[in-house]
Amino acid sequence: MSKKLLGIDLGGTTVKFGILTAEGNVQEKWAIETNTLEDGRHIVPNIIESLKHRLAMYGLTADDFIGIGMGSPGAVDRKNKTVTGAFNLNWADTQEVGSVIEKELGIPFAIDNDANVAALGERWVGAGANNPDVVFVTLGTGVGGGVIADGNLIHGVAGAGGEIGHIIVEPETGFECTCGNNGCLETVASATGVVRLARHMAEEYEGDSAIKAAVDNGEQVTSKDIFMAAAEGDKFADSIVDKVSEYLGLATANISNILNPDSVVIGGGVSAAGEFLRSRVESYFVRYAFPQVRRTTKVKLAELGNDAGIIGAASLALTIQK
Ligand code: ZN
Repeated sequence: MSKKLLGIDLGGTTVKFGILTAEGNVQEKWAIETNTLEDGRHIVPNIIESLKHRLAMYGLTADDFIGIGMGSPGAVDRKNKTVTGAFNLNWADTQEVGSVIEKELGIPFAIDNDANVAALGERWVGAGANNPDVVFVTLGTGVGGGVIADGNLIHGVAGAGGEIGHIIVEPETGFECTCGNNGCLETVASATGVVRLARHMAEEYEGDSAIKAAVDNGEQVTSKDIFMAAAEGDKFADSIVDKVSEYLGLATANISNILNPDSVVIGGGVSAAGEFLRSRVESYFVRYAFPQVRRTTKVKLAELGNDAGIIGAASLALTIQK
């Protein structure tokens, strides 16, 4: 029997697990709740317990695996296999993750940042079709990303490579970002960014719009409400989608002007808007991209959904040096 891969996608609400073939087919998957209480001290022990339980259940041992790969929020030290400053896990201080899991399971372990890992997944068996040059942008509560160039995930000198969410699309006058700058892509294209943009644009809009009325009345409006209203013909909502698409088209064209990837893959919750969003982004991408890039780089939607994390994490295990 050929050896398998284990992929772990650690998030603020759930930890997702997958057992995969070396070709990237998911054979088993399960999830547990992330217990972030008491400074997140239960997270690693819970992961170990769940892994041991499942391996026993499936009759698998350490010898059946090539390795374990994991995607984590926060600042990941790939060499020491530690995580620092993952605030949604209540991990402020440096956490020993890899050394503990490796010791308890007896399986080699590799770790990387969660957005990078999702990029690896989409590149491997998703929309990237295993091409060596793929850029992944994820639009969720924040805007994350990962850049794979010449087959390598780009980390940069301090591990901050591929921070697509902090490409500045509105210098000086843009909204303040959590990073301290103004006008980052994340401030207008994340789920909260889209709503922030709607509030701002509602001040100047004069026509009839259910979304504008809801925003002006202080009602709860989500990015999903805005995309749905736009698809149904609400002109104000449509102008917001258009603006978000322009920002995304500008940012992805600029990345592509440097890297000329095979594809820019858009994923994350906001991308559930699907072709409606993709085609709009593409229309601006085409406007801002360099001619050869415009002709050769494609704008695609992610295909793996929630599984991108476990699949990409599992692929990390293939990179472990023996
Ligand atoms: Zn920023």
